[in-house]
Amino acid sequence: MSEVSMEKLVSLAKRRGFIYPGSEIYGGLAGTWDYGPLGVELKQNIQNLWWRKVVSEREDIYGVDAAILMNPKVWEASGHVSGFTDPMVECKKCKKRFREDHVEGDNCPACKGELSEARQFNMMFKTHFGATEDSSTEVYLRPETAQGIFTNFKNVMDSFSPKLPFGIAQIGKAFRNEIAPRDFIFRAREFVQMEMQYFIHPSSRKEVYEDWRKFAWNFLVNDLSIDEKKLAWHEHTEDERAHYAQAAHDIYFKFPHGSKELWGTHDRSDFDLKSHTGGSGTELVYRTPDGEKFIPHVIESSVGLGRMILAVLTDAYNEKDDRVWLSFKPSIAPYKVAVFPLMRNKPELVLKAREVYDSIKKYIPNTLWDDNGNVGKRYRRQDEIGTPFCVTVDFEALEGEGVTVRDRDSMKQERVKLEDLEEYLKNKLNG
Ligand code: ATP
Repeated sequence: MSEVSMEKLVSLAKRRGFIYPGSEIYGGLAGTWDYGPLGVELKQNIQNLWWRKVVSEREDIYGVDAAILMNPKVWEASGHVSGFTDPMVECKKCKKRFREDHVEGDNCPACKGELSEARQFNMMFKTHFGATEDSSTEVYLRPETAQGIFTNFKNVMDSFSPKLPFGIAQIGKAFRNEIAPRDFIFRAREFVQMEMQYFIHPSSRKEVYEDWRKFAWNFLVNDLSIDEKKLAWHEHTEDERAHYAQAAHDIYFKFPHGSKELWGTHDRSDFDLKSHTGGSGTELVYRTPDGEKFIPHVIESSVGLGRMILAVLTDAYNEKDDRVWLSFKPSIAPYKVAVFPLMRNKPELVLKAREVYDSIKKYIPNTLWDDNGNVGKRYRRQDEIGTPFCVTVDFEALEGEGVTVRDRDSMKQERVKLEDLEEYLKNKLNG
């Protein structure tokens, strides 16, 4: 596997239509990114896979999609109004701002100027609700999806009467006014989180915690085929851990800018439901069939979709001589198959290739038609967007000899009869 620089990833992502800088024609907006046609497919494939594993394939986890704007009291009870802050320092010379814990040494990383004392900066974005703009109408864009899960705990209990343990999961946008957004989609101001809160009796804390740690690791290694050697556990030290957390383990991934947090598993104790019981006056408790009443504890699994995409892109990137290819697992590749006529100025080839394309598209919808440039260029393009298979219709195909199927990773070509093509491609894609 080749190591890739962030510059190369950013450039490939933009050139090939995965990810563009947000509001680019207006000079951009720091920390915002737009997903292009290929990025959207990759993003959906990964989030659907997570949803399938966390929600659809299980009977104990329920999905929700809560509103991004929530009653501001939610953020008081959760502790975000008083505590969702990062220490910020400002350079007295160039006025640039930095997160204190990201600065090495005592001087400004940009101009070596003197830095101010650190002050706490709240990272929640504020906006106004309704037509009046005063402090009584202030609301926040949610900085995490977790709170929309806790506020729906009672609703899910009332609708489904689930037995403990059970979980609630959500995928959605979160907003953080990061002091210094950077490292491409790793640290953005608007991003998607995939979070699951598992409600338990405190006696099962340790084993459930271990299960969710394993789940995260297995998802990355087995479902996304990420190289295990690029992953590592990081246990939060006392200083890093939230005051209510009993334990916290992050999976770090070797991103181009270093080994950094990708996915967190946290034992949040009974802090959340207790705080919202206090804040809302609604009792958020569980009653066992034999009458025991208690506030469930929570094991959280929390991962950023953008960071997961960055990890997948980093891991899939390969470069040898002048060939670049993304070795995505077929299940998450934006396109599974590309079909081309050997030459685009031979109508009989184009007609046959169209026929083949139309038939494949019926059973593999994410099939792409490509007749730009010569075959060599098309292979390069498909390699760079990680299409696992290219089907070429040549003159022998017109004679009934079948088409050639080229494998992205080995570059080997095989001739496959048209009547065998569906089974061949389906087997290869599922393998
Ligand atoms: P960091 O220490 O890197 O700021 P965090 O510990 O504050 O992250 P959490 O609050 O635990 O992160 O958020 C859960 C997950 O959401 C993280 O593991 C990460 O994948 C993702 N995430 C957090 N902040 C961002 C961001 N600014 N941009 C993209 N993803 C993020």
